[in-house]
Amino acid sequence: QQPLLEIAGLKVTFGRGAASADAVAGVDLTVAPGEVLGIVGESGSGKSVTMLAAMGLTPKSARIGGSVRFRGQELVGMPQKGLRAIRGARMAMIFQDPLTSLNPVLTIGAQVAEALRLHNPGLSRKAAMARAVELLALVSIPEPERRVRQYPHEFSGGMRQRAMIAMAVANSPDLLIADEPTTALDVTVQAQIMEVLKELRERLGIGLVLITHDLGVVAGAADRIAVMYGGRVVEQGKVDDVFYRSRHPYTRGLLASIPKLDVRQERLQPIEGAPPSLTSRPSGCPFHPRCPLAEARCSSEEPLLRQVGAVETRCHFAERLDDPEGGIVVPFD
Ligand code: SF4
Ligand code: MG
Repeated sequence: QQPLLEIAGLKVTFGRGAASADAVAGVDLTVAPGEVLGIVGESGSGKSVTMLAAMGLTPKSARIGGSVRFRGQELVGMPQKGLRAIRGARMAMIFQDPLTSLNPVLTIGAQVAEALRLHNPGLSRKAAMARAVELLALVSIPEPERRVRQYPHEFSGGMRQRAMIAMAVANSPDLLIADEPTTALDVTVQAQIMEVLKELRERLGIGLVLITHDLGVVAGAADRIAVMYGGRVVEQGKVDDVFYRSRHPYTRGLLASIPKLDVRQERLQPIEGAPPSLTSRPSGCPFHPRCPLAEARCSSEEPLLRQVGAVETRCHFAERLDDPEGGIVVPFD
């Protein structure tokens, strides 16, 4: 089966000459039709930039290398006109803060209708409004006939994010990219939004990329997870394999910092130290200054992504994280 999205050797460079920095330093990712891929990492890991580049939405000053294929069609180097036709109609993206993306002076219905008519200029206003009502219902907004006539400020944060999702899927894209879609919301609303996204996948067969800094958010929704650090994928695999059979100290650290409902935790274990900045990425394995397993080799030699057990991982000492019981061994004690 042809992948929906195939990113190969993607590089995104900002700045020129000595001041240049790779925000994305060689990333390979695929999304199959109808699949949910979670991309997890701290800020600055390159997760958002990777998907912005895939959508052709990085600033003009950014240099893009490598390949992004959507249903086999190369997007890197495609003129903006072609990209605009694909964006919105075949792949769409939603962001963390729906308020900044919504127009405060237009009703929600008018904005959904506008999204529809952008790619279907022949659609009448009346038909677009009727479809807008259906789309609000699709994302489980109650009383959609009444809600289409309201303005963004009359919507709660969670309802606004639902409206953004309705706009994003208005033209039945094959792929929806959601960048921290629940970060600004409280925990209950977060869960509801994830439910809406899961339903879309089930009802529309849409492929989803969920970008998040919180591994816990994607646990119940993703088929596969890619963990990013320092502009690279450092580990990837099926969701259960990443959760229970991770071979990367960074992933183990992220796992240890997820609050668990069923365990009374004395203390959560955040990973000490800060993630590397774009301009001062450490040599060798970029995680070495924070890694409890680091040895001399780690600061000079960058590990390759390789299959270890059930996952693909990028650590010289991945074998040391072997755990036949399938439980999580945390090297952070
Ligand atoms: Fe840690 Fe070294 Fe593995 Fe990097 S390669 S994650 S520094 S042990
Ligand atoms: Mg981001």
